[in-house]
Amino acid sequence: MQGICKLCLRERELRHSHILPEFMYQNIYDAQPKRFYSLNIDLSDEEKSFSKIQQKGIREYLLCTECEGLLSKYENYAAETIYAKNKGNKAYIVNQSETINQDGFLYEYAGFSYPDFKIFLMSLLWRLIISDSFQTPDVAPEIAEKLRAAILSQNPLEYDDFGCLLQVIKYKKGEIMGNFILQPFLTKNAKSDIINILIDGFMYSFYLNSKSISESQKEVFLKEDGKMQIVGRIIFHDKGLLERVMAAYKYFMSSVKK
Ligand SMILES: [Zn+2]
Repeated sequence: MQGICKLCLRERELRHSHILPEFMYQNIYDAQPKRFYSLNIDLSDEEKSFSKIQQKGIREYLLCTECEGLLSKYENYAAETIYAKNKGNKAYIVNQSETINQDGFLYEYAGFSYPDFKIFLMSLLWRLIISDSFQTPDVAPEIAEKLRAAILSQNPLEYDDFGCLLQVIKYKKGEIMGNFILQPFLTKNAKSDIINILIDGFMYSFYLNSKSISESQKEVFLKEDGKMQIVGRIIFHDKGLLERVMAAYKYFMSSVKK
């Protein structure tokens, strides 16, 4: 299909691209046929909630061949580092401790390639924003444009631009809460809107205005020296997220029965 590539903005033959890289939900697939569950929950309006069973992931005509190649370089990096798709992982844990409020664990990682992983994280946020398949909360056009330009020029920006808190969500110690995607939802702190998405147990929280948040809140973000803190959290200790997941589950079960 011919069209305007969303990344380079040139008219090109467009590829039928995955919105989320396939490796991110390999664990979500049922054995046969390939499908996964996607849950969207609007806590304020049940009518707007829905669940979908999607075949082979969500695809859209978004990118030209060249731009898809550009993004796949960063996807491959992420697949190898945090999703352990081969044994050559470069990032490693240097320290592990309880979080200050003792509701989870803090894993201090080192060894990340700052540009590679940061551009991957930004490209994930950007794809959620521009895709029609995800009900991502509206984001100011300037934000989407800043992301697009940075990704296209392969500029990772500063560590506190579009900072991302990455959490591994578990039912209990050692048991990751995988097997579904909770569609993007918006939360806010005093200084920044936050776009969150839970994909197969990994919760990505992107701070849209992360420059203005406190230095202590920025501690978890990926740093230029390759360090990053990843938080391990038990779902039952996060009341807001628990409520959202419970509502999603309830809605999903009722829609299955219909
Ligand atoms: Zn392009």
